[in-house]
Amino acid sequence: MTATLHESLFYTESRTRKKSRMRSILRALRTAFPAPACALQHDDPFQLLVATILSAQCTDERVNMVTPALFARYPTPEVMAEARQEDIAEIIRSTGFFQNKSRNIKACCAAIVEKHGGKVPSTMEELTALPGVGRKTANVVLGNAFGVPGFPVDTHVRRITNLLEFTDSDNPEIIERQLCEIIPEKDWTDASHLFILHGRTTCIARRPKCDECGIGKWCPSQRV
Ligand code: SF4
Repeated sequence: MTATLHESLFYTESRTRKKSRMRSILRALRTAFPAPACALQHDDPFQLLVATILSAQCTDERVNMVTPALFARYPTPEVMAEARQEDIAEIIRSTGFFQNKSRNIKACCAAIVEKHGGKVPSTMEELTALPGVGRKTANVVLGNAFGVPGFPVDTHVRRITNLLEFTDSDNPEIIERQLCEIIPEKDWTDASHLFILHGRTTCIARRPKCDECGIGKWCPSQRV
């Protein structure tokens, strides 16, 4: 992903040095963002799961604008599973891809009711078996609703970890595996939040603010 003239640090840096560089970066990001948290508003695992499905190709701010009305009308998986798909679609229209998303949300809630007694399951295997739930969504729910360490790889995480040359891949599953090898498990969820916050504020796609970047000294892609 990263166009560099040098050989990527991903290949030249030892595992020990990668871990140490990552530790320094996360420490600096924690100073900049002392309370990293999921930006999707939610009160329970069900709401977080639905909000995360809605966040595909959409900003968290936009999702937060539609979820209060959605959950007021459909407060549980049971009620959502019984809803008409077109009614869900109408409420979530502004998040984009609303036909697919409404179909997935309804089917997902039906599966939660049918297979899990109306409770959102708390394992990667069970979550990813639900309609419309991929690994990234499952990791968001595991980490933020159940306290189970997970490493969601979204577009910011993918871009920044490529720029930092901690990965040589564009594939979220491969990136997740490579990052989990150099970050302690207890830090996975926070690390994902920190990279997302850094991507929104500083390392912005196509116009990264390298001159004011707090992790620039550890970044092989720094442009100054
Ligand atoms: S130095 Fe530039 S490219 Fe590297 S992380 Fe910071 S903003 Fe992104």
